Formats: sequence, structure tokens, C-alpha cells
Amino acid sequence: MEMQAPKGTKDMLPEDAYKWQYVESILRDVAKNYGIREVRTPMFENTELFSRGVGETSDIVTKEMYTFNDKGNRSITLKPEVTAPVVRAFVENRLFNEAQPTKLYYISPCFRYEKAQRGRFRQFHQFGVEVFGSKEPSMDVEVISVAMTSLKKMGLKSLSLNINNLGCANCRPNFNEALKKYLEDNKECLCGLCQTRLEKNPMRILDCKEKKCGEITKNAPIILDYMCEECDTHFTEVKKYLEVLEIPYKVDPSIVRGLDYYTKTTFEILSSEFTVCGGGRYDKLIEEIGGPDMPAVGFGLGLERLLLTLEKEGIEIPKENIFDLYIGARGDNAEMEGFKLANKLRAAGIKCETNHMGRAVKAQMKYANKIGAAFTTILGDDELQNKTIRLKRMSDGEQFEVSLENIEEIANVLK
Ligand code: ATP
Ligand code: MG
Repeated sequence: MEMQAPKGTKDMLPEDAYKWQYVESILRDVAKNYGIREVRTPMFENTELFSRGVGETSDIVTKEMYTFNDKGNRSITLKPEVTAPVVRAFVENRLFNEAQPTKLYYISPCFRYEKAQRGRFRQFHQFGVEVFGSKEPSMDVEVISVAMTSLKKMGLKSLSLNINNLGCANCRPNFNEALKKYLEDNKECLCGLCQTRLEKNPMRILDCKEKKCGEITKNAPIILDYMCEECDTHFTEVKKYLEVLEIPYKVDPSIVRGLDYYTKTTFEILSSEFTVCGGGRYDKLIEEIGGPDMPAVGFGLGLERLLLTLEKEGIEIPKENIFDLYIGARGDNAEMEGFKLANKLRAAGIKCETNHMGRAVKAQMKYANKIGAAFTTILGDDELQNKTIRLKRMSDGEQFEVSLENIEEIANVLK
């Protein structure tokens, strides 16, 4: 029986691997530039980390997690996002005792049980940055700048940055109160889910994608009118720093984000088709997960959506030759010599291939063409005797005679 990959998952095939490698290498380079170091956390965590860390009322926790009991009857969840795991690792490994700030990045699969569609998968990948220990608005903007710089470096042009401020423990309750009152007056017009959200987390209603809820929330009170002085100053500073870096932005009071842990700054970066990146400040999460009272800011960027955007915008990703040289052989002796030569050349950094398929010479050359080898050569009795070979450049047919024993000379022609 032919098997299929589970719904919402995708194989990454060799023909696309270079795209992933390209995107990841830019992200790693930019991170390095900012002194951000890599962290890798387990593929699964105890379920409690997410229910507490991401929030009981978030979409992720209420309906998207891959949760199961393991053989020891522990509740385990495949990571749906990576912020909570990184915070857990930061606290558990006592990284808060080191000089701050702590700047971390990850590239990781995430698992969410969602309706699969373009740009929405059940296993997808995120690049993310988490910075711990700084409450300064300049750090919010540094983090935003990592995302913007990376995306621009890949050639994306039509990007927009939307920012908001969600307030803090001081001012959000006042806003929640006002919002709740407004929404209660319009309760009958809300969707069923939002009617239940009204009690637990009215702010989530602002995020609802139902049209009728959108109609109501259009005129709802906005958080920006309820900010305390500290949040107000923070927001003003964030905007100033964005201007300093000449990063254009739009204030969008409807950005509340799906995750419950955000405080103060939140932001989204939109490409021509998707929200590719979402993030913000989460000053209470470290403490919530058992660590010290320490501020934090970060983002997650979806790699599938990024790649789809690059493709849609016709941005070409540089493709490397897979093979510099195909070494063909005529006869058993030559085949053995070719095998030896290939290994020596590989040690010298040359990407080469020989005949492992028992093909005749003509078929070998046809194959060399198919795999796009930049050069070919054929070893036969003459070449072995004279100890010289001819390297044929496939692009224009020009031939270069070189000594079979001089690996450096061969490598120089091929490079
Ligand atoms: P959405 O509103 O599209 O569901 P989200 O708010 O759930 O997004 P975050 O949790 O902030 O997204 O994750 C950050 C980024 O991860 C998103 O901007 C997106 O690029 C990517 N992402 C999230 N869920 C998926 C998914 N199911 N498939 C592919 N990418 C995803
Ligand atoms: Mg989502």
C-alpha cells in the first residue's frame, strides 16, 4: 500500500533544500551580527509549560496542540511555539545569572493542529529571537530590526510593519474593563466563541476573524487611550527608535496577537500575502515559568510563509552547482583510478561524481549532463599510461589538459 505523509505536513526534497539552506544561512548570519546565539530545545515538553506559558485562552492551547500521554502517563505536547520552551531553558539552566541581556535565536519545527491551507501547516518551521533582561524600548526596536534586516537581505520589498502597545498589569485592567463593558452592550452581535471570550479574555475578541465581530470591534475602545504613563513613554520611545533606524511602521490598535503572554509592544510584519512574523514584549513570562522577575522581547517568523513569499515575488535564490566534475571511465582499471581520483579531489574541496551504475561511456556522459556537472573527464588506458587527463568545460566545450597526479592543478582548473 502506498503511504502518504500526514495532512498538513510536507517533505523537504533535495531539489528545494538549497532554498532552505539559503534562508537559514542569512538568518544565522544576521543573528551573529547582533550577537544573538543559537539555542535548541526538545521537540516536546510537558504540556503544562504551554498551558501556563502560552495561556489557557489562546487558540494554541484551546484547540491546536498535539498532546498525548506517554507510556509513563505524563502529558506531553509537541512544541506549538518556541518562546515558552526557550524561557523554560533559560530559567532551568540559570542563564539569568550571567551578564544580561541574554540574546538567543532558534530555528525549529512547530506543531499545530490547524486547518491546512496555503501558508498554514500542521508542522511548520520558525526562526525566532528571544532577548531576556532588557526593558528598554531600544531593545524592542533592535529585535524588530533583526527581522526586518533579514527579510530585506533576502530581497523582499513589499513589507509592512504594524505595531501596537498592549499595556501592562497597571493599565490593562482599566482597558479590559472598558472593552468588556462595550462588548457586553453588543453581546448578541458577537459570534459564539467570542461570547465565551467575553468573560475570560475580552481582548482576544479584537483578534476574531468573524466578520460580525469585526463590525463590532471597529468602534471598540482602544488600548492606546488607556495606557499608563510608563507604557505611553515606552511606546513613544519605540516609535522614536524605529524612526532612528528609518524603519517605516503603522500603528494598528487591533494587533493583540494570539498568545496571552504579551505586554507593552506587539508587532507584526506582513508580506504581500501573509503575516510572516509576529512578536512583542512579554515581561511577565519568565516569572510565570518560575524564574526571576525579568523583562523579555522576541518574535517568531514562519519559514514556509517566507519561502512562499520569496517564490511569489519571483525572488531568485542563488543555486550552487551540485557537481564540479564528472569522472567517466572506460574499463575496470580506469574505473578504479577514477574512484581514487574522486576521493582525492573531494578532499581538495571539489564536488565530483564517478560511475557507480555500470554505465557505458556514452551513458556516463549523458548522465553527467543530466546532473549538471560543470566539467567532465574520461579516464581510459591512454590517460592512465600518459598520466594526463583532459577536463572538458561543459558550458563552452573548452578542454584543459592536466596531469592526473597533480591534484592542485586539477582543482585550480575546476574552481
Ligand atoms: P496566524 O494568525 O496566521 O494563525 P499566529 O498569530 O498563530 O498566526 P504566531 O504564533 O505569532 O502566529 O507565529 C509566528 C509566525 O509563525 C506567523 O507569523 C507565521 O509566519 C508562522 N505560523 C504560525 N502558524 C503557522 C502555521 N500553522 N503554518 C505555517 N506558519 C505558521
Ligand atoms: Mg495561529
